[in-house]
Amino acid sequence: MTDCLFCKIFRKEIKSKVVYEDDEIMAFEDINPQAPVHILIIPAKHIENLNEITEQDKDLIGKMFLVAKKIAHEKNISADGYRTVFNTNKNAGQAVFHLHLHLLGGRKMAWPPG
Ligand code: 5GP
Ligand code: ZN
Repeated sequence: MTDCLFCKIFRKEIKSKVVYEDDEIMAFEDINPQAPVHILIIPAKHIENLNEITEQDKDLIGKMFLVAKKIAHEKNISADGYRTVFNTNKNAGQAVFHLHLHLLGGRKMAWPPG
C-alpha cells in the first residue's frame, strides 16, 4: 500500500532512526517514545493489524519477536524486563494501520495497562 506511513518508512521515503533491518523486517525508534526504549518492529509486508494475519505469516510474526529479543539484548533491557505490544483497532488505540510490534523498556511499567 503506497500511501501507508510505515510502508513509506520501510522504503525510506520517510526518515526514521533505524535500529534493525533486513529484507522482511525493520525496527526503528518511535517518534513519540513512551519509555526510555521505545522501538517499533514492522514487516515489509503491509498487514493492517493482528486481525489480518494468516497461517502464511506465522514465520514472519515469530521473526518479529526474535528481532525484539535481539534489540532488547542490545539495549540492555533484557534482565530488568520490557513489554511487547500489538495494538489492534480502536479499543487498543491503534493509530497506524500497518502491523507494528512495540518494544518498550527502560522503566517500570504498570499492570494492568491503562
Ligand atoms: P499505535 O497506536 O498505532 O499502536 O502506534 C503507532 C506508533 O507510531 C505511535 O507510538 C507513534 O508515536 C508512532 N509514530 C507515528 N508516526 C510516526 C512516524 O512518522 N515516525 C515514527 N518513528 N513513529 C511514528
Ligand atoms: Zn503499510
